[in-house]
Amino acid sequence: MNLLVLGPQGAGKGTQAKRIAADYNLPHISTGDMFRAAIAAGTELGKRVAPILASGELVPDQLTVALIQDRLGDPDAVGGFILDGFPRNEAQADALDEMLARIGRGLDAILFFDLPDDVATERMLSRAVAEGRADDTPDVIERRLAIYHAETEPIVEHYRATGKLVPLHAELDVDTVYSEVQDALGMVGNR
Ligand code: ADP
Repeated sequence: MNLLVLGPQGAGKGTQAKRIAADYNLPHISTGDMFRAAIAAGTELGKRVAPILASGELVPDQLTVALIQDRLGDPDAVGGFILDGFPRNEAQADALDEMLARIGRGLDAILFFDLPDDVATERMLSRAVAEGRADDTPDVIERRLAIYHAETEPIVEHYRATGKLVPLHAELDVDTVYSEVQDALGMVGNR
């Protein structure tokens, strides 16, 4: 299965994606995790993107698209994947469509975790205490949500048009949301 998770920060995409990855034996490909790993390892990429992540802005498309292109070519992604944090704007969505078309693959489902801003902000602030992420300060959270609405939310329509968008109730608790995910993926399996 080739899956994509979409939704605002704090919607629980990462948590659900990790669970799906474990249960369905798919690599969890998270651009945010990849950038944070590069920063922790002190690579050239890490040095370049560190200030961008700290500010809440988006890493340039060229870098992000190249990163995903390479990653999807890794042997563990041949049998499927779950993409988390990419695409984040229309240009990246187009690049992904092209990439998948070139290798003769398509997305099976786009899991859309929708959440009101006030709940998203509240969840991110409490996560900040637990995880100590540098970009979970009130100002940067506000900036990230603004970028989500301006750049990422429009791609929901891009995917709705494919008929493969699965809206989920991200405001519910983790287990309830996960059972919605399982129901949706069960239907994908039977398609
Ligand atoms: P969140 O969704 O909570 O903002 P992520 O871990 O997905 O967290 O992303 C953290 C940061 O990594 C983003 O704010 C951005 O700077 C960068 N990033 C992640 N994915 C992308 C992407 N697809 N395009 C550009 N920048 C990205």
